[in-house]
Amino acid sequence: MNVIWRKEWTKKYETPWSIIEKLSFANRVERDDLLRVLGGGGIKGIKSKVIGDKRRDLFDLNGFDDELLCRVLELDILDLNKHTINTLISPLHYYRELPHSWFYKNIRWCTECLGNGYHSWFHQFTLLDSCPFHGLALMEMCPNCHNHIPFLVSNKSLDMPFICKCGYIFADFSESRWRNWNKQNIITDEVVMKWLSKDNTETAGSLWLFHPRHGHLKLLTTEHPLITSKPFIIQHTVKREETRSPDIKRKIFVANREIFISVQRYILKKLKRHHQCISQLWELKKGDMTEFPEICPYAYAYVFWRKSLLELDHFYRRNIRGDDIDPPKNNGSGMVVTKIIKDELHYLVEEFTRQTKKTNDTVREAALIWILNRVTGEFSINFFNEWFKIAGEAAGKEYAPNSTEVERIKNICFPKIAFKYDVSLKSPIECISLSKPREYLYYKCPNKTLQSRKKLAQMKSHLPSSIAIAMKGLGNPNDDNKRLQAYVDRYVSKF
Ligand SMILES: [Zn+2]
Ligand SMILES: [Zn+2]
Ligand SMILES: [Zn+2]
Repeated sequence: MNVIWRKEWTKKYETPWSIIEKLSFANRVERDDLLRVLGGGGIKGIKSKVIGDKRRDLFDLNGFDDELLCRVLELDILDLNKHTINTLISPLHYYRELPHSWFYKNIRWCTECLGNGYHSWFHQFTLLDSCPFHGLALMEMCPNCHNHIPFLVSNKSLDMPFICKCGYIFADFSESRWRNWNKQNIITDEVVMKWLSKDNTETAGSLWLFHPRHGHLKLLTTEHPLITSKPFIIQHTVKREETRSPDIKRKIFVANREIFISVQRYILKKLKRHHQCISQLWELKKGDMTEFPEICPYAYAYVFWRKSLLELDHFYRRNIRGDDIDPPKNNGSGMVVTKIIKDELHYLVEEFTRQTKKTNDTVREAALIWILNRVTGEFSINFFNEWFKIAGEAAGKEYAPNSTEVERIKNICFPKIAFKYDVSLKSPIECISLSKPREYLYYKCPNKTLQSRKKLAQMKSHLPSSIAIAMKGLGNPNDDNKRLQAYVDRYVSKF
């Protein structure tokens, strides 16, 4: 078999994805034909045209005949893959994540690197968001058709090598051919250099805790913690709550509820000039025979922040009396009140509990709660700021984002935060967080004048629960009441 290939076309930290693209380009062979020619026994035996994703995998190169592939590329690519992946993730060896999960499932790339036919494992690594060679932000979808490209030997999103299905050219070798394929790249990112130089034994004493989807190498290489906790040995003896509720799930619930209430108090204090606006929206207040008034953006931000953070059914108040925050449940099913991040918090609980298995229970429980409080507090405030950003437009147009949009907002608000601690928890826990700069926005409140405030004060609540009760009391509700109920239902369904 005659194959055009040079050893120098493969570079350090390169993924097989760009290697296969180059191989396909140089030999004018279509990807699936490459898979069939270089395929292991499994693929060669496949008569049908369909090759499943499992055989298109680029981690273990399942679909290829190892020996044949290594001979063609003049290098042990499987070994290179393993070695590179291990170099990147070995400092996190104590995490329970599978190696694959530290890497994106779709291609992310640096335009500069890809322009020269190079794609790196660094670009796929979930703890990085810029190219360590060029410092450029990584791309994750075609700038023309906005499609993702799966990290597979696949024609799903690609046409010819390095060309998107839509025709967009990621790398143009029509003139240069392969002249630049052996150009070497140099790592310039200090964070990455530090990470690669890390002695793996360093982690024997201290561990990291963070959510893999919201981590960053910057967090794990910094020597300047944001804050540190006190050691928990002294602290836990003072807390009385713990002796009253021996169940850790309940303790987590109680602490979470407390942190939510204090963030809420902090926000309400900031919004003290809009308390009437808030109660108007939250209690669906309006005047007799009039429509619902214009919504104050400050009130909108608070009411919808609260509703989505707690994952409540309605934005308006459930009942006139009592609050709508769930009480602790004895079966442990309701772990937190800030339900929108329950999975993320649950992950941290599991991972921390696993990592600190051998530590004294009371000490690690106190440490865990301290950690969860940091994450929840920071998230809740970021989340409010994000709701506030959209409040101006959304309040005016009387709508609320759908669940996909809320999920997106949640993901950008989840703090990039990491905790460093020693397993014995005898020294303080360090907390490092990459916080985003805050934007300051101002909106016009529709209830600024004394006159409009007076009007607000006279409005009555129209909560669906109270209207229903009132109608029941009437026995035979008249048309006016029915019309009112229909109007309120229509109004709340807009959000
Ligand atoms: Zn680059
Ligand atoms: Zn495209
Ligand atoms: Zn207001």
